[in-house]
Amino acid sequence: FTIISLIIAGVAWYWSGDVNRFAQVLVVASPCPLILAAPVAFISGMSRASHRGIIVKGGSTLEQIARADIFAFDKTGTLTTDQVAVDHIDVAKGYTPQIIISIAASVEAISTHVLATSIINYAHQHHIQPAPAHSIREATGGGIFATIDRRRVVVGSLAFLRSNHIKNLPDNIHDQTAVLVAAGGKFIGAIYFTDTVRPGAKTALNTLRHLGVKQTIMLTGDRQATAQHIGRTVGVDKIYSQLSPTGKVDIINQYRSQKHRVAMVGDGINDAPVLATADVGVAMGVIGSTVAGETADAVITSSHIGRIAELRQIAKRTMRVARQSVLTGIVICLALEIIALFGFIPAVIGAILQETIDVLTIFNALRARR
Ligand code: ADP
Ligand code: MG
Repeated sequence: FTIISLIIAGVAWYWSGDVNRFAQVLVVASPCPLILAAPVAFISGMSRASHRGIIVKGGSTLEQIARADIFAFDKTGTLTTDQVAVDHIDVAKGYTPQIIISIAASVEAISTHVLATSIINYAHQHHIQPAPAHSIREATGGGIFATIDRRRVVVGSLAFLRSNHIKNLPDNIHDQTAVLVAAGGKFIGAIYFTDTVRPGAKTALNTLRHLGVKQTIMLTGDRQATAQHIGRTVGVDKIYSQLSPTGKVDIINQYRSQKHRVAMVGDGINDAPVLATADVGVAMGVIGSTVAGETADAVITSSHIGRIAELRQIAKRTMRVARQSVLTGIVICLALEIIALFGFIPAVIGAILQETIDVLTIFNALRARR
């Protein structure tokens, strides 16, 4: 733009033999529309998003959301609700559901995982006292270790218990989200949950497809059978199950190395690493400060999964308005420069016209707010 403007101004000077003509062209050539249009459109888009309960941390986030061709979702707490209920409890010989819950509730006290909250609520509702535990330590995306009555307790996924060499693991585990409990190196019980798909999840994924997303994928630490059940219900294109938090990161990196642009939507609890790895990370249902809320580029503060489709829509519109305002500004400037080339625009009038263009550009870019 600058080079073209200088050439037009140079031609005007050379052709008229009047240095004033050079100035007259350059007065209308001020690149304000270029500088103003994009920021105004982005701020407008961010404002519109925040009205819908979506915090967008920067203009480039909207650009990435608009450009992403793959949307990846976490399962537990993202595609499914963050209010998971305990469904039933299986126990090994010599144990009761009360004992299993009392052990699990006690070690889960340190966790912010949706399953932890669910177990603690269940214990509370059934008046089960948590067993006194100490040396509690969480392995993100796998489970928890602790010591109760001098016995080592392991609570978590089947894979997690297996990797901790737990004996007597059952081979007939239901296709439901489960937390398994082991004590003294042996399996003692399993807590099963009813996974409820978030209302509107299927519609949100369909809307994303209509908005140009090529592929939707699901990344989960859960077992394949459970993952497939949820994945089919919401209609994701591809399912990756039994992933550790680093496994999720690897999948995202794989897509990125194939020149895909990936948006990751996570539940904001233990998805911080994947949210940071994706081109753009969106945390769902985050209220207050969590690691994921801080790592994510955008945060959806409500539990409506439909907001992710709205965010894509807002982002696309913002990009369209920004691009269009910049182009309109440039075209008007160039037209005025050509008129000035022929000496029809005195410098003062040119300056006024220039301001008018700026105002028009701002108004045009503000359309991104609607
Ligand atoms: P998703 O990827 O679907 O959100 P996570 O990676 O958070 O699932 O968890 C995968 C599995 O790991 C859970 O289904 C559960 O069995 C186990 N798990 C993770 N964190 C915990 C925890 N704090 N307590 C018990 N089990 C856990
Ligand atoms: Mg999760």
